[in-house]
Amino acid sequence: MTQEELFKNIISHCKEYGFVFPSSEIYDNLGAVYDYGPYGVELKNNIREYWWKSMVQMNDNIVGLDAAIFMHPTVWKASGHVDAFSDPLIDNKDSKKRYRADVLIEEYVQKTEDKIEKEIEKASRRFGEKFDEKMYRHTNPRVVEYRKKVDEVNARMKSALEKNDLAEVKQIIVDCEIVCPVSGSRNWTDVRQFNLMFSTQMGSVSEDANTIYLRPETAQGIFVNFLNVQRSARMKIPFGIAQTGKAFRNEIVARQFLFRMREFEQMEMQFFVRPGEEMQWYNTWKEKRLKWHLAMGFGAERYRFHDHLKLAHYANAACDIEFAFPFGFKEIEGIHSRTDFDLSSHEKFSGKKLQYFDPELNKNYIPYVIETSIGLDRMFLAVLASAFEVEKLDSAVAGEEGTERIVLRIPPSLAPVKVAVFPLVKKDGLPEKAMDVFNNLKNICRCYYEEKDTIGKRYRRQDAIGTPFCITIDHESLKDNCVTIRYRDTMKQERIPIGKVREIVEEKVALRNLLSSL
Ligand code: ATP
Repeated sequence: MTQEELFKNIISHCKEYGFVFPSSEIYDNLGAVYDYGPYGVELKNNIREYWWKSMVQMNDNIVGLDAAIFMHPTVWKASGHVDAFSDPLIDNKDSKKRYRADVLIEEYVQKTEDKIEKEIEKASRRFGEKFDEKMYRHTNPRVVEYRKKVDEVNARMKSALEKNDLAEVKQIIVDCEIVCPVSGSRNWTDVRQFNLMFSTQMGSVSEDANTIYLRPETAQGIFVNFLNVQRSARMKIPFGIAQTGKAFRNEIVARQFLFRMREFEQMEMQFFVRPGEEMQWYNTWKEKRLKWHLAMGFGAERYRFHDHLKLAHYANAACDIEFAFPFGFKEIEGIHSRTDFDLSSHEKFSGKKLQYFDPELNKNYIPYVIETSIGLDRMFLAVLASAFEVEKLDSAVAGEEGTERIVLRIPPSLAPVKVAVFPLVKKDGLPEKAMDVFNNLKNICRCYYEEKDTIGKRYRRQDAIGTPFCITIDHESLKDNCVTIRYRDTMKQERIPIGKVREIVEEKVALRNLLSSL
């Protein structure tokens, strides 16, 4: 299966099995907005809980907040979003498709990088053990040429974006001969800036109404509450404030399912530190956040850091954690050293002091901030992309040779349903016995009860939503009080006493399995 097919399969699987539906589907969808179905909402809640607990439960110096989506309009003046939260857009005159100019250039760079890696791979195969990769990278004319091109384009783009020189951004697209993926033509408009914030009116009478914005990030709710939180929870620097919640961006190009949505959810933590200590904390949080990702066990090769070429107006260092999505390595989380930009700016615009008195230094200052910001929906997509497998079955399972199953290998503590309980048949007292087992488990985790269809079909449906355990009650169970437990990943079945079910399930699905490795 190609990566493109994999991505298509995941999208249709999400719909068929109740994970994600397009918004307002009966009205032909609303662009780049999605609804989470019965299993999607469970998985999303579990990922959020994993993040939340890793922040506020695992760190004695991080507390939570739930700020409103609507905020005073001046907040977005102070934060710079009214003036600067925009993307450079460009249209192709033939296909009428709109693109982010910087993304077109980034994709061009990525393609050139891929060409380098292909050359290296080819040479490595040709020269075998004697291959000196470092030397080859420095001396092979084609590789050197590609590398020169990448560095040159990156440098030009960085400088153009910093100077807001949109004519130069267009010139890069022209010089690199970038074509529209849809029309294949190079018939481009000029590059323009486009503000991504949604606005609406607040107030009952239209003349008095104020234009307010749907927040494009959750962070500002944390900054404006900095002193409320610090004082009420008696926090001492260094300390963090964590928040999850909806954010809204009128994205120009929104074609990648949950990856780029116009309404999405962020999980952000702002960590307040002494000025001058921010780089040390920036590195600490880079490390801690990568560990959080790795704990899910999808493999270190799926993650990489990417340093920002162009720093946002508020940052003095910034990087992304990128994840290998089916459409390539893309940002899943940003880690930014935001300096004292936000608090200073809110101080200026509000006229209220936002300073911290440091008893150890015996002085007041505006703290510096390290931010970790991850998209919950992107994380959800990453979990599905890593967990989704079409498995060819071999002789390991009798009677299954040559068949296929779709299985979601979601870490048990994140799985939407933890355990399914089945009576083998719908009679002879088996449903009652199975209901007892279900009732005994439902107060520890999300369970599922089903008595329809053959056991094989029921197992497959649970595999497809990632349920780690199935418990089957048969006629023997009435006599010996034992049940069959079937494991999702190995498909192995075991006979165990009913009394042990709760213990096994509780042990394997506990979130502490992830948290304890952090
Ligand atoms: P990108 O460069 O992909 O537009 P960004 O750098 O603008 O992302 P941030 O402002 O750093 O993103 O937002 C933090 C996180 O929020 C991102 O790492 C991502 O996971 C998530 N996020 C941002 N925009 C979207 C979106 N439109 N849809 C889904 N998630 C998003």
